[in-house]
Amino acid sequence: MPKTVVTRFAPSPTGYLHIGSARTALFSWAYARHTGGKFLLRIEDTDRERSTEPAVQAIYDGLSWLGLTWDGEPTLQFARAARHAEIANELLARGQAYYCYCSQEELATMREEARAAGKPPRYNGMWRDRDPSEAPQGVAPVIRIKAPQTGEIVVNDHVQGKVVFKAENLDDFIILRSDGTPTYMLAVVVDDHDMDVTHIIRGDDHLTNAARQIVIYNGMGWDVPEMAHIPLIHGPDGAKLSKRHGALGVGAYRQMGYLPEAMINYLARLGWSHGDDELFSVTQMIEWFSLEGLNKGAARFDFVKLENVNGHYIRKAKPDYLYEVMVATAKEIGRDIDHTGLVTNKATVLAALPELQPRAKTVLELIDLAQFIYAVRPITVEPAAGEQLTLDARAMLGGAVTVLEGLGDWSVPAIDGAMRVFAEGRGLKLGKVAQPLRAALTGRTVSPGIFEVMVLIGKSESLARISDQSVV
Ligand code: GLU
Repeated sequence: MPKTVVTRFAPSPTGYLHIGSARTALFSWAYARHTGGKFLLRIEDTDRERSTEPAVQAIYDGLSWLGLTWDGEPTLQFARAARHAEIANELLARGQAYYCYCSQEELATMREEARAAGKPPRYNGMWRDRDPSEAPQGVAPVIRIKAPQTGEIVVNDHVQGKVVFKAENLDDFIILRSDGTPTYMLAVVVDDHDMDVTHIIRGDDHLTNAARQIVIYNGMGWDVPEMAHIPLIHGPDGAKLSKRHGALGVGAYRQMGYLPEAMINYLARLGWSHGDDELFSVTQMIEWFSLEGLNKGAARFDFVKLENVNGHYIRKAKPDYLYEVMVATAKEIGRDIDHTGLVTNKATVLAALPELQPRAKTVLELIDLAQFIYAVRPITVEPAAGEQLTLDARAMLGGAVTVLEGLGDWSVPAIDGAMRVFAEGRGLKLGKVAQPLRAALTGRTVSPGIFEVMVLIGKSESLARISDQSVV
């Protein structure tokens, strides 16, 4: 019977959840879901200096927001240090590892000699075959793995193909430090083994590590998991994605008003493809996902495309859902006034959403577009809109108020009809009436249809806002 697929995501909690890491998590998750396997989370918190609790939280929050749910409890790597040490000692007992007593000076000389000989700075195996009885007094040793000195180490990778490393280029690296703590290389292998991981999907910056890790697997006689090393994400200019290209943390995208389903769809396409399909649901992605679909070439992060994908999902979303996201986003970014306004005017915002959705690419834009609903009288008129409010226009608005007051039917066709007759009566084009109305009602030069706005905010609020700007 084939083994159940087990994938894992193993981030180091040293900052925010990077969008590149989120993409790695997405692929691991999708593969587990596609195969009916398990997706595990391991927090690699062994770097005590750099690992922080908020960073761990950011990983949980980011994955949860994206809907990348992990199976079981997360594994915390640091808590497993004793187990890692146990395996280092077992490798020692198996003759696959050895104590090394080199001093810092000796290591420095070794590096110098290697450099002088035009070779990469590698450990020269000084203690590999030495008798432990030669050990200097009072020196706590490290444990080094016995890496093969000749031949090749082959990584059979689902994305990179067959990648061959010459043994002579890998040295006997440290697996346990002199203070008894494991190195990253050892911890990863022991954890992946103990967690029964069958497929390692991660960034191709770990490809050389893979070769070293295979040495440990072989030393223990353990099966090497399947591997897929995916190319890193580049910026639009082809350079490795960095801060100067744009936001890198998943949380920042949430705060900028991106929907998780848009992020998932966009990140999926960034390094994986299913024919020419660009827009697809998570369910479709799970159905289609295969390691063969992972791309070998580096993907370029296209911020404009992400925005367009987000626009698509905003247009498709149900108003009820969008409303909740708007409130949560306003709250998260500390826009108290907007948040309160959105809450008190919930019914109006919900009614307005179908008008607003086609006009917004992000949730922040939606919040902004909805401002005419929650604006408080006397509303702030932006300078460009203020230019519409000339003395003539203000006098015209006074006349409009009188007509509108008399309207029994407060519907778009009724208001539209009345304003056309009113404009004609004054020898004005409809726009000459509509633009000052827009300025008075929304404080802006751009808004949804102005008669729709009037219906949405209601007759008395409309008349009050117009009166605020009119002269009689
Ligand atoms: N903790 C490593 C990182 O954040 C990943 C290790 C792995 O996937 O094997 O880059």
